[in-house]
Amino acid sequence: RAKSAGGNRFELADPEADARAITRHGLTTALPTALDRGEFFIEYQPLVHLGDGSVRGAEALVRWLHPQHGVLSPDRFIPLAEHTGLIVPLGRWVLEQSVRQAREWRDRHGGAEALGPLRINVNLSPCQLTHPGLVQDTVDILERTGVAPEALCLEVTESALIGADDDLLKPLRRLAEMGVDIALDDFGTGYSNLANLRRLPVSVLKLDRSFTQSMQQFPADPVDLKIVEGIVSLAHSLDLAVTVEGVETGAQAEQLRLLGCDTAQGWYYARPGPPERLHELALADTTA
Ligand code: C2E
Ligand code: MG
Ligand code: MG
Ligand code: MG
Repeated sequence: RAKSAGGNRFELADPEADARAITRHGLTTALPTALDRGEFFIEYQPLVHLGDGSVRGAEALVRWLHPQHGVLSPDRFIPLAEHTGLIVPLGRWVLEQSVRQAREWRDRHGGAEALGPLRINVNLSPCQLTHPGLVQDTVDILERTGVAPEALCLEVTESALIGADDDLLKPLRRLAEMGVDIALDDFGTGYSNLANLRRLPVSVLKLDRSFTQSMQQFPADPVDLKIVEGIVSLAHSLDLAVTVEGVETGAQAEQLRLLGCDTAQGWYYARPGPPERLHELALADTTA
């Protein structure tokens, strides 16, 4: 039949697109059981203070160990999880695991006086913001684990909050009032109105990796330098801390430190890794 012949012709014309569609379909089908089967795991990437180089905490980054495809990065499956709604239980699982991990670091570091409490950053997807259970789930997890709200930072992308109405901001406000930090992730990519920042219950700006990348050349582009300088001074005048992501070289770290950024994250310090690795890095820090 003409229809199936057409389908075949399409398949031959673009086998790659077809393979992608098949994989996407397969991943979507496998997602709901992946959580029950324990196929997700979390890697932690240190957050380092630019002033003294100490490890202050870590960002939790979820991965999927797929039985056929191996380790999949979140960019491959988070959009699918958002689409199917699995992001709500998956996000809750990531939050609980990460907060438990923070508790374990704290317990293991008990004797190390020089070491402040390690903080844990967890990403929230927009679907979790609109889910009514977010605040209660977070409160329950903090209570169950005995971790202080001040040790938790929830990261929400700038684009998720652009044009956000009060209903969307309400759960974030309640969490912020409890002492949980809210970070604006990938900041600088979303064309948000800077004056709008005052309205948002955020305490940290995470400057997008594209800014860090523009610090690669030396001397860096003077316009980019001015932009980062402006963002940092605005952030600080609003009492917001500035974290930079994607720091890959010492030169970038130094440039961003001179520009006044507070905390950094990137391969220059460490790639995301297992929780024991963070423990070692944090301890090495105090004995160095
Ligand atoms: P993000 O929150 O902006 O996380 C930073 C991403 O940059 C991570 O990618 C990290 O591995 C990568 N990265 C860190 N340092 C460097 C560097 O020096 N150079 C380069 N080129 N990349 C660096 P990853 O782990 O693939 O995560 C991608 C995104 O997936 C995250 O971006 C976040 O938006 C999302 N994601 C990860 N885990 C979760 C989660 O548990 N829940 C939700 N909703 N989203 C998550
Ligand atoms: Mg993040
Ligand atoms: Mg980010
Ligand atoms: Mg990013």
